[in-house]
Amino acid sequence: MKYEDLLCPSPAGLFCKPGNFYIDPVRPVDRAVVTHGHADHARSGHAKVLATRETLAIMGERYGEDFAGAMQPAGYGETADINGVTVSLAPAGHVLGSAQAVVKWKGRTMVVSGDFKRRRDPTCALFEPVGCDVFITEATFGLPVFRHPPDTDEIAKLLKSVAQFPERSHLVGAYALGKAQRVICLLREAGYDKTIYVHGALEKLNALYESFGVKLGPLAPATAGKKADFAGAIIVAPPSATQDRWARRFPDPVVCFASGWMRVRARARQGGVELPLILSDHADWDELTMTAAEIKPDELWITHGEEDALLRWATLNGQKARALSLVGYDEDEGEN
Ligand SMILES: [Zn+2]
Ligand SMILES: [Zn+2]
Repeated sequence: MKYEDLLCPSPAGLFCKPGNFYIDPVRPVDRAVVTHGHADHARSGHAKVLATRETLAIMGERYGEDFAGAMQPAGYGETADINGVTVSLAPAGHVLGSAQAVVKWKGRTMVVSGDFKRRRDPTCALFEPVGCDVFITEATFGLPVFRHPPDTDEIAKLLKSVAQFPERSHLVGAYALGKAQRVICLLREAGYDKTIYVHGALEKLNALYESFGVKLGPLAPATAGKKADFAGAIIVAPPSATQDRWARRFPDPVVCFASGWMRVRARARQGGVELPLILSDHADWDELTMTAAEIKPDELWITHGEEDALLRWATLNGQKARALSLVGYDEDEGEN
């Protein structure tokens, strides 16, 4: 049996022929397994969706309760049989409810990482390595230049700036699903217990995280109050809003952006970011290579992102690898 008989790339996404299902399909299909709630992976309109409860709740929040014909919730480690193929989900450490899809058939195991990271994140379960014949990895930050610093350092930078400029506000751009809640949790872990102001676009997902037990501390809408009330405050908003008219309501805002791409100075400059915070929900170069070395699959497949360097690394390390070059997945972390 060739591995491609079990999972193969197709225009709609990774397809499992014997199970007749797709993983993170980019167009509506009969049967989908969805790794996590980011919009490029979780789309509406499938007849049936298997995902974690958290991911299904996120999809329901974004697309409305009728986002799919039928939903099949699965906890981490629970197995489901789809037309004779065994599917289970393992934590991916990316955002709340994010999962790797573990697909078993005829004695072969293939694992689709989805988006993942290896670092501890107070808002989601830690990535769990699963032994397999083929590990299908993302490579968003698959270049040796990408080495994400410790998240505590980046949060300390933010708090230092807040202390240094008490008359200014700090406006932190963070993607609505995952990054925003992680920034808030990390601030709490660093001892920041004041009210954090949030853009309206984050409110529903913040409430959803809270409902799954992720404590965010005191939050308030960023719309209430006069300009002067926001002096010394931290406001969290989707990245696009930080460049918007909306931002003018705050006193002399220090515009921050929490993203792995902030490693690239030109990106920060172009985006008018005064305080770049290198905080990523994707594996950096060390995490990608460490994971492949740890799992030691028979073959390493790369879905999307910076494939070339990881392919070269694999060859140098005697690891069989191929690039799938799947289309439809964002290089930007998450979505706007
Ligand atoms: Zn993605
Ligand atoms: Zn994602």
